[in-house]
Amino acid sequence: MKSPGSRKRKLPSEYLKMEIKKGIAVSPGIAIARSLVIDSEDYRIPKRSVLPSAKISEVKRVRDAFKKAVKELEKFSSGEEIAEGNIKDIFAVHQRFLKDKNLRKKITDLVYNELLTAEYAVSITLRDIANHFASVQDKYISERAADIYDIEKRLLRHLVGGKRDDAEHINREVVIVAHELSPTQTASFDRKFIKGLATDAGGRTSHTAIVARSLGIPAVVGLEDVTGNIAPTATVIVDGNRGVVIIDPDEPTLKEYRQHAIEFERLERELDTLRDMDAVTRDGVAIELYGNIEFPYEAEMVLDKGGQGIGLYRTEFLYLYSQTEPTEEDHYKAYSEVIRIFGNRPIIIRTMDLGADKFTQSKRFTQERNPFLGLRSIRFCLQNLVLFKTQLRAILRASVDGDVRIMFPLISSLHEVRQAKMILHDVMEDLDEDGIKYNPNMPVGIMIETPSAALTASILAGESDFFSIGTNDLIQYTLAVDRGNERVSTLYSGADPAVVNLLRSVIHDANKAKISASICGEMASEPEYIMLLLGLGFRIFSLAPPMIPEIKKLVRSVTVESCNIIARKALSMNSEREIVNYIRSAAMKVLPEVF
Ligand code: PEP
Ligand code: MG
Repeated sequence: MKSPGSRKRKLPSEYLKMEIKKGIAVSPGIAIARSLVIDSEDYRIPKRSVLPSAKISEVKRVRDAFKKAVKELEKFSSGEEIAEGNIKDIFAVHQRFLKDKNLRKKITDLVYNELLTAEYAVSITLRDIANHFASVQDKYISERAADIYDIEKRLLRHLVGGKRDDAEHINREVVIVAHELSPTQTASFDRKFIKGLATDAGGRTSHTAIVARSLGIPAVVGLEDVTGNIAPTATVIVDGNRGVVIIDPDEPTLKEYRQHAIEFERLERELDTLRDMDAVTRDGVAIELYGNIEFPYEAEMVLDKGGQGIGLYRTEFLYLYSQTEPTEEDHYKAYSEVIRIFGNRPIIIRTMDLGADKFTQSKRFTQERNPFLGLRSIRFCLQNLVLFKTQLRAILRASVDGDVRIMFPLISSLHEVRQAKMILHDVMEDLDEDGIKYNPNMPVGIMIETPSAALTASILAGESDFFSIGTNDLIQYTLAVDRGNERVSTLYSGADPAVVNLLRSVIHDANKAKISASICGEMASEPEYIMLLLGLGFRIFSLAPPMIPEIKKLVRSVTVESCNIIARKALSMNSEREIVNYIRSAAMKVLPEVF
C-alpha cells in the first residue's frame, strides 16, 4: 500500500477525469451515487497537504482549535458544567497539556514547514505521544495514553466538527468513502440512503465487510488510497461484484453500469423465488442453510431469504453499538426479538467476541501489542466474569422461549471449554436459587477458529454438543495473515491446502464423535467454495442473509457425488492457486450467471 504521504493533492480540474480503482469485492451489487467522504469514528485523519498559500491560515486553525479546547475545559474546572471530583482533576491535567507551548509549536511547525493539514498534524503528533505512553511498562503511565486520545479527539472536534459530514444523519443517496469504517459505523448507517461503501483499508472478512454484506450494501474495500483521490461529492460507481470503484465515470461507463445494476436486480429477484424451496442437492441430500446476524432486526431478512434459523448471532454488537454496558435486560430483549421471529427454529447465540478488532467501550484504549493474539473473545469473558455471567443469564432465560443454543468463540484449548461450561453451570445454579426457569439441556457448542482447536477437535468433541467453524479466523490464524489487512489480502485464502486439510480433519472428527459441524465463516457465503465444502462432508452452512438464495441455487444444481470428486481432487493438489482455479472453474460450469 502506498503511504498516504505519497499522495499528491489533486487540482480541481483533475478531479473530473474518470478514475478506475481496483480493490477487494466484499459485498455484491452495483451502486451509483454521489460520494460522501467521511473520517473514521475515532477521527483517524488521512494524510493530506495544504497549498503553500494556505499555510498561514492553516496554522491559525490549529491555534484556534487549541484555544477553543482550553476554553471548553475551563467550564469544567470553573464548575460551570457539572463534573465529579476525579473528572475535574483529569480535565485540569488535559488543560495543562493543551497549554504546553512546545506541543503547539511542534504541530504548527508540521503545518508550516511540511504543508500538512491542521487535522493531520494534530492527529499524528498526539498519536505519537499516546503510542509512546502506551509502550511504557508502568501501568499508570501507559494508561495515560487514553487521555492523549481524548485530547486529540477534542482538538479534532474543533477542527473538523463544523465541516464534518455526519453519516448518521444523511438524507440523500450516497456512496460512503472512508479510510476505514468501524463495524458500529457501518451498522448505524441508514440503509435507505447508503447505496455503497468504498474504503482504503480492510479485507474480505473484516467486520465492515461482514456488516455490509449482511445489510446488502455493495462494498469494495482495500482500495488503498480512494479517500485521497476523490472530490467531496464526485459521482461514484461501486461494483461490489468485481471489486471496482469508478470515480467521475464518463457517460458510456455510467450507461453500462446502469445496465449492470438492472441485470443484477433481475438476478436477485429470480433467486428470491427459491425462498420456499428446499436446499437439496440433485441427488437428494438435504443441506441446512442458516443466517448470520449481528442485530435482531436482521432476523427478518434471514427469514425473507429462506434461512432455516440463525446459525451465528454475533452478540458483541450489543456492546459495540452502545455507549454503556448492556444490562441483562438489554441482552434478554435482543434475544427475545429474534426468538419472536424464529419461533421454534434454531438460534445459535454466540457469546460475545470482544477484543482485537471488536473492542469494548471501556477497554478501548488499553493497548495490547498483539490484540489478535491477546485478551479477546472467550479469554476476555473468562477474565470479566460479571460481564460474561450477565450475558449467560440472559441467554439461559431466553432458552425456555425457543430453540436457543449457545456457542463459545475462539476456543483454543479443552481447559477453556471446561471453564466456560463451569461458569454456565454456576449461572444455572444462580437461576435455580432465584426460581427462574431455563432449559438445562440447552445445547452447548464451540467455534473452531484456531488451529489448536481444529487439531484437537476429537478431544474437544467430548465437551461439545456441536461445532461451528469460523473460517474467517481459522484462515487468519492458520496462515498467519491478518484478515483485515489489505496489504496481505492476497495471502488470505480458504483454498490454501493447510486450510482445506484442517477442514477435512474437523468434519472427520465431528462425524466420528457424532456431533454436527457447520461452517459459519464467510467461506459459506462464497459460491466458489460450496462444492468443495459439500465434498469434504459439510451439510450445514450459516451465512450472510442476502447470499442464502444464491447458495441455495448452487446446492440445488449439484450432486454430492460430483462434489466428492472435486474435494478428492482438491485435496491432492499442492498449491492454493491450483485449488482456487480448479474449484472456481468447477463452480462456474454449474452456475455461470452467479460469477
Ligand atoms: C469467523 O471467525 O469465521 C466467524 C464467523 O467469527 P467472526 O467473523 O465474528 O470473527
Ligand atoms: Mg471469529
